[in-house]
Amino acid sequence: MSKNIAIDGPAGAGKSTIARKVARELGYIYVDTGAMYRAMAYFMIQRGVLASQSDQISRICKEADITIRYEAGEQQVYLNGQNVTAYLRTEEVGNMASASSVNGDVRQKLVELQQKLAAREDVVMDGRDIGTVVLPHADHKIYLTASVAVRAKRRFDELCAKGEPADLAQIAKDIEERDHRDMTREISPLKQADDAILVDSSDMTIEEVTEKILSICRS
Ligand code: C5P
Repeated sequence: MSKNIAIDGPAGAGKSTIARKVARELGYIYVDTGAMYRAMAYFMIQRGVLASQSDQISRICKEADITIRYEAGEQQVYLNGQNVTAYLRTEEVGNMASASSVNGDVRQKLVELQQKLAAREDVVMDGRDIGTVVLPHADHKIYLTASVAVRAKRRFDELCAKGEPADLAQIAKDIEERDHRDMTREISPLKQADDAILVDSSDMTIEEVTEKILSICRS
């Protein structure tokens, strides 16, 4: 039986950085499910579909073939045969992913892909519904969060470091909106699973959070 670790939490809590480190330490594969929703969003944007067009999203998502490969230990997302990993981390794609991921057809398709991966490999999988829906029987479940102010500042610093334009107040507003949408949507809302352990990273370093989660996984 493969080992599965689920890490859920809101945008900007540090899930991907931490999950990647935890996976490396344990020798597991890191699965970034947000990147799958982003690849689907990127497809919608390319096809000119708007976030409000739910019928179109349901129809068009069937034409998106999303696959995951690992190259030099890093997850690469392929959309209809093309590696789109480099295009996924923009605000535009993130906002579209948050809007299109409320769609039941999109979720069904991606949850299936995630479950197949986890059945085959030892994984640390991060997302919003991993402990609650995708891997309800995961060996360990973590709910990783941080305050809106801390998450906005982290995202701001990340954009500044890349030399991209950044507006702290706007980022905080986007994060609040995304949290609200992720937590109140009808299908698979973001919430802490009953058996998940809460980790608040607001006043913790990346190393401290990684150590804490590793100690939970090894317990
Ligand atoms: O984690 P990331 O910011 O890359 O995710 C982008 C969007 O995809 C999130 O705002 C969320 O709406 C959606 N998502 C989801 N379920 C997941 C992972 C991401 O709904 N398991």
